[in-house]
Parts: sequence; C-alpha cells; structure tokens
Amino acid sequence: MNIKLIAPHDQRDSFLSVPFKFRRVNLPLLAALTPPDHNVTIVEEVVSPDDINQDVDLVGITVLTELASRAYDIAHVYRRKGVKVVMGGVHPTVLPEEALEHADTVVVGEAESVWPRLLSDAAKGQMQRLYRADTFTNLKGLPWPLRDILPMRSFLPIPVGIETTRGCPYGCEFCCIGKTMGHQYRTRPVPEVIAEIESIDSPYIFFIDDAIGLNRTTAKELFTKMIPLKRRWVGQTTVSLAEDLELLKLMKRSGCMGLLIGFESVQKATQDHLRKLHSLKIDFSEAMRRFHGEGISIIGSFVFGFDYEDSDVFEQTFNFIMNSRIDCVQMTMFIPLPGTQLYNRLVGENRLFVHDWWLRGYPHDTLLFRPKNMTPYKLINGVRRLRQQTYSFGGILKRFFGMNPLKRTMLGCQAYTGTNLLARKLYRKRQRITQPFGESCHLTNSIQ
Ligand code: SF4
Repeated sequence: MNIKLIAPHDQRDSFLSVPFKFRRVNLPLLAALTPPDHNVTIVEEVVSPDDINQDVDLVGITVLTELASRAYDIAHVYRRKGVKVVMGGVHPTVLPEEALEHADTVVVGEAESVWPRLLSDAAKGQMQRLYRADTFTNLKGLPWPLRDILPMRSFLPIPVGIETTRGCPYGCEFCCIGKTMGHQYRTRPVPEVIAEIESIDSPYIFFIDDAIGLNRTTAKELFTKMIPLKRRWVGQTTVSLAEDLELLKLMKRSGCMGLLIGFESVQKATQDHLRKLHSLKIDFSEAMRRFHGEGISIIGSFVFGFDYEDSDVFEQTFNFIMNSRIDCVQMTMFIPLPGTQLYNRLVGENRLFVHDWWLRGYPHDTLLFRPKNMTPYKLINGVRRLRQQTYSFGGILKRFFGMNPLKRTMLGCQAYTGTNLLARKLYRKRQRITQPFGESCHLTNSIQ
C-alpha cells in the first residue's frame, strides 16, 4: 500500500512553532514500524502543504485537540476521494467517538502495538473501526524513527527530536498526559538512546519528553554518557530538577542549552493544588539562580485562570519574571482540554462557555471558561498587560542579563534575541484580535 502520514497544521502562529520546526518523532516512528512491503510518506503541514493528488491507499492523521478541526477537514477530502483514513494521537484517544465521525478507523492509545495489525487488516480490506492499545508501549527495543523521510524544506538544521521517556506521575488537573501516556514514568534504556543520538547527523537535539529527568538515576546516567558526544540540546521538564545540583551540572556538561519549565503559578495557594509543585523543595527564585548559574537558559511557562489565584497574581508574576530574569516567557490562560480532570470539572460546574471549542475555530487566547476569583475581563487584561510589560524592549534587555553574558554562547545570544522578538511580535499581534466568549457572547454585559 501507499501510506501517507499527515501532521496537520492550521498555519496560525503559535508561541514557538514558528522558529522551531522540530523534527518530530511520532510519525517517523510509525514509519519505522511499517512492514517494508508498504511505501510510506510523511506530510508536515507546518513545513509544506499536502499534495492531495498523490496516489495513496491509506492516510493516517495524528490529531492534537487544537488541530482537530483541520484534521477533520483533511480526512473529509481524502474520504471523498475514496481513500481510507485512520486517526490517532491525543485527541482521538480522549474522544474516539467524535473522531470516528470523521475517520474510517481510530486508534486509541499508543499506536505502536496495534499499527502492524491495522496495516495487515487494511491490506486485506478488513480494517476495523477501532483499534485500542491495551497497554502502554514498552520503550525497550523501539526502532529508531525513520527521520530520512521527513520533509526537509524550511526545517532549520537545529533540533532533531529524540524521545527518552513517556508518561508522567504528577497528574496535573489541566494535563492529559496521564490519560494518554499513563502515570507511570517509562524510560528508554540509556544505551539505546545513546546509540540513537550517535546515529543522528546533527549537533542539535530536542528531547521531546514531556518531563525529562524525573527519574534522576536514569537521567544522570544518560547525561553522563552524552558528555563525550558533544551535542547541544534543549528539552522540557519540571522545576524540581533544580533541587539536584549534581544533575544540573551533568545536564550542562552533556550540552543542555535551555529548558522549558512549567512554573504555572507563583501563588502558593495554586501551587499547593498542583501535584508537581506542592512537594517542591526549592523556591522558584533559587531554582532560577541555579539554572542560570549553570548557564542553562529558561523558557518559563505560566498559566492563568486557576481557581485559587487572585488578581495580585499578575504583578507577582511580573516581579518574579523580572527579578529572576527569565530568558523567555510563555503566558497563557489555561485551555480546558478534553480528557483532563479540569475539563470535566468545569463542565460539571457549568463554567465552560462552549464545550466543543476545538471545532469552532476560535483564535488563540480566547477565554473558554468562567474564572472563579476574578472577572473574565480582569483575567484577559491581566494577561495582556503582563505580556506587554515582559516584552517591552526594556524588559527584554533587562532579562538578558539574568545570566552572566559570558555564559551565553553566540548561538544562545541569537536564540535569546530571536525568541524574545518573535514572542513580542506574536503577543502584540494577538492583542489586536478580539476575544469572543464562544456561544456566550451575549453574556458580555454580565461578566465584566
Ligand atoms: S508535570 Fe507536566 S507532563 Fe506531568 S502532568 Fe503536570 S503538566 Fe502534565
């Protein structure tokens, strides 16, 4: 069969997707698991448009909630041509019934264990409607993703995605990783990861793990063995890693340039309700001193709209950002993702403005729920003002000196400037976009 795997994109700007078109892992991994008698191509819409006139027998679409609408449009085009469509990924895993309205077949859970069987059934014309992975994938012995078939045009030569872990034990209320990848933190054997890194012809790596380094023993082994490989890498993790100075030093020596850290909230009342933060043994400011002390840049992520926060949160967050000189900052109102405890709770409390917002094409930054301790406008305007302050030219310049400039490489300086100017442009552009409240627009007078 000719199989086409598609990663949809709606071409709307997102915080970091523009400069960093990371070479992803999930579709190349499926390609590697495909028997050699099939022919696989990959389409990354973020890189280049799909050619729907190509001769294909089966289309597989990976679906994130934010891109579900785009994924369904693609599916309709192919199905009208008589091509069978399979959907998998986070969104079909949490909402399989909805995905089944748009696809011939849906994969629920991690696809590795069902993909070969699905292809065998498809080749015989006997594909089932639903393939459900009964267990989470054992990461030992996974094949290396077939990266050579990824579309290359306009990919920067920077980060090649590598996966070292899956799952997360924390179960944050707003996150669906626990549901889609499990609460058990699974790690790939370090020798397998090292061998894969050695096989990659790029000095730059992006660890795609949702939270790298949570198993500190394995992480220390990995970073120690990476030192002689002389790669540079970025990844995402939790602030708790700063508790372990030995780990931070190993990360730096292994080539860590920067981390995306989910600080989420500076307010204690909110932190106490986030499992990943309430047992933290270090405060945020000390954590930032340690990261910067090792020469590791930080993209700090903050989410607003928690039930326990009050309107002081904006000023307190700004003070932390500037005092700690966080290199780059992501500030969003939280998004009630289906499949999360938060989504279910907000539905139960009748606080979601619209239940299936992902099908409605709302702009980024649309407030989708009714906050508890402040008015919607206070929340929206608080986030707006915080972005303006953080990304004023003075703010960008001041934050640059959070890390000793001598610890920044030339590439680090370029990355700092590039990401900050891009974030400034993006946030200013979004500021001009009106923010409807979905189907409750008529409520605007009553929610001010
Ligand atoms: S720590 Fe990160 S990955 Fe884990 S549940 Fe919380 S938000 Fe999700």
